[in-house]
Amino acid sequence: MRLACAEINLSALNQNLARVRQLAPKSRVMAVLKANAYGHGLVTIAQSLVDADAFAVARIDEALALRAGGVVKPIVLLEGVFRSEDLAIAATSNFHIVVHDEAQLYMLEHAELVSPISVWLKLDTGMHRLGIEPSLCDDFYRRLESCKNVAANIKLMTHFACADDTQNSKTTEQMAHFFQNIKTVHNELCLANSAGIVGWPKSHCHWVRPGLMLYGVSPMLAATGKDHALNAVMRLTSSIIAIRNVKAGETVGYGSAWRASNNTRIGVVAMGYGDGYPRHAPNGTPVIINGKRFSIVGRVSMDMITVELGDDHSVMLGDEVELWGPNLPVEEIAQFATTIPYELLCNITPRVEYKYIQE
Ligand SMILES: *Cc1c(COP(=O)(O)O)cnc(C)c1O
Repeated sequence: MRLACAEINLSALNQNLARVRQLAPKSRVMAVLKANAYGHGLVTIAQSLVDADAFAVARIDEALALRAGGVVKPIVLLEGVFRSEDLAIAATSNFHIVVHDEAQLYMLEHAELVSPISVWLKLDTGMHRLGIEPSLCDDFYRRLESCKNVAANIKLMTHFACADDTQNSKTTEQMAHFFQNIKTVHNELCLANSAGIVGWPKSHCHWVRPGLMLYGVSPMLAATGKDHALNAVMRLTSSIIAIRNVKAGETVGYGSAWRASNNTRIGVVAMGYGDGYPRHAPNGTPVIINGKRFSIVGRVSMDMITVELGDDHSVMLGDEVELWGPNLPVEEIAQFATTIPYELLCNITPRVEYKYIQE
């Protein structure tokens, strides 16, 4: 019997990349692999995505792990670098860097590097997290152009705040702000995250930056991957390790938080927040056993959850339980746990076994 296991379907991953290409046929694809490829396994995911044009990560250590794993494609550091030592490493390892503020530009201007670095200049069009004020684009661009440490073909990017909601005018405003301020610069552009790719065709341009949708999950509000012809890549499973009878009025688990209203049966599953399952998943959160939905009852503990089997006698000790995956969208579990699928995927812990499959 297999305990906590994340089965990763590499065929589904590549079908999702093909779906990105179908939605944005004129764009090159920078596959976003930060946070351990959203919990799917950094190096294995990169090695599997042979058709991607580039990869993107958040931290330089993630980029170094990719190079150590034999990945030779361009790797973009989405936040750039924050220390001159890292600038030297980026030059040696041939990473592309984002420049999003004056301090990063100053560091570039005052560095001695083995070779020039490819730069993505990031404009802040309304997210107000990273990026330069768009009206400063010309000024920054000219300084980058005349900097000996910057390779030719400087690229421009921005990031959306509300692209998951097609009714929200913020994305149109951000695009307008972007295009108005880059008029004198004729370079490669990159705006769209997954939600931009799915919901905002005008944002596609030369490059797109999909993360979540590569893993088969919907980036849009109130939707699942299937709605956009995406296939779930992760299937999180474990097994029934005990089955018990509970009498009407008895309680189950920590805090005695759930009380049986009838005589019933409880299946104990080897899966808890120590595996990354959300502790706040309430009573009623679904799991799938032998193709049938059952509900969690009682609190999620570190190593176990409890599921009400009721009068269903088909479930046996050792049966496999799907916590999310192709048959149970992680988007649905996220909603029960009042979080987002991104967080659930990233939170998978090292004790979960990874099993990579190719259909
Ligand atoms: C994480 C990230 C992405 C990918 O976003 P998804 O919503 O997962 O597609 C793209 N661009 C930047 C700057 C990011 O930080």
